[in-house]
Amino acid sequence: MADITLDRLAKVYPGGVRALHDLDLTVRDGEFFALLGPSGCGKSTLLRTVAGLEAASGGTVRIGARDVTELQPGDRDIAMVFQDYALFPHMTVEENIGYPLKIKKVGRAERAAKARRTAEELGLGHLSERRPGQLSGGQQQRAALARAMACHPQVFLFDEPLSNLDARMRLEARTFLKKLQRELGVTTVFVTHDQAEALAMADRLAVMEGGELRQVGTPTEVFRRPASTFVASFIGSTPMNLLPGRVTGDGTVRVAGGELPVPDEAAPLAEAGEEVVYGIRPEYLSWSDSAADGAVSGTVSVVENLGSAQLVTLEPEDGSSVQVVVPEEHEPAPGTRGWAAPRADRALLYRDGDLLAARAEAGTAAAPLS
Ligand code: ADP
Repeated sequence: MADITLDRLAKVYPGGVRALHDLDLTVRDGEFFALLGPSGCGKSTLLRTVAGLEAASGGTVRIGARDVTELQPGDRDIAMVFQDYALFPHMTVEENIGYPLKIKKVGRAERAAKARRTAEELGLGHLSERRPGQLSGGQQQRAALARAMACHPQVFLFDEPLSNLDARMRLEARTFLKKLQRELGVTTVFVTHDQAEALAMADRLAVMEGGELRQVGTPTEVFRRPASTFVASFIGSTPMNLLPGRVTGDGTVRVAGGELPVPDEAAPLAEAGEEVVYGIRPEYLSWSDSAADGAVSGTVSVVENLGSAQLVTLEPEDGSSVQVVVPEEHEPAPGTRGWAAPRADRALLYRDGDLLAARAEAGTAAAPLS
């Protein structure tokens, strides 16, 4: 078993920057776990503290049954892949892959055999004698992965492993990495600031802000039911509409441009007269060009082509805006009037920034899907 357990893990840098605030987190054995959040939220610090490259200021890190908090990086049985791959330019691919084994004093013949086998597994066999400068970005990334794999570590730690690749290579590398991780079954934590990457690759993810974990869950949980408006605005290729409004006495929320039904899960908690934020993703609004109840209405200001659909921006009179994904062939013309109605089971209500939901523990770091 190689789960990773953080217990009240804290990091304060010299000079007083509190980068991690008493974090509790368990990454399960074999899991592909993403740390996601804006720049400066503490992702790299968390990863580097698990690796032992930064000393914890408080709390503990356990890998499997071992408390590794005080251990040197080399004694933690982990392998790390950095953003820049950190391959040695003067060594061949095979020598690079075998280097960690050399550090572990594995003999030359065994080292070469293992390095060659790992290179073969990652499709680098024919490139073994090349130096990193003679490889493409994708091949360099594979060489860095091969080097990490060669020691059969208990844990992989990846720091933005795909960010040096161009968009197309990135998609390929993403699929490759996910497949490889599944096959190896090694507990993996990877850092990214790209929400699409985290959603696509992770079994579970943590969304961080200011050195804290704002939500921990599966991609589906975090996408469908963000625990806070911060998470809601961070996740999703087209940001969630977050419409300020006021709860009425008859089961609706008055927002700019219309009255929308209070979502069922929020109904027992939403009090008439209180200010809330109505959250609905552009994908979960249905478009109509004739008057509809329970919808927001406005004037179409912009229509953006998403390929198989259109992203329509609707502006109610007060200057706010609502975005709606409209299927191809139904797109309205700018300047026309339109109505957008939320899908009832996808609408969310937020109060003071936290999800209002009777059936789940709203506002906690890990609001579960029921
Ligand atoms: P992220 O990886 O999410 O971009 P980091 O973990 O790099 O965030 O940084 C978290 C916070 O810690 C930031 O405020 C950053 O400025 C600070 N920080 C990071 N490294 C150091 C350091 N070596 N010394 C002082 N402050 C640091």
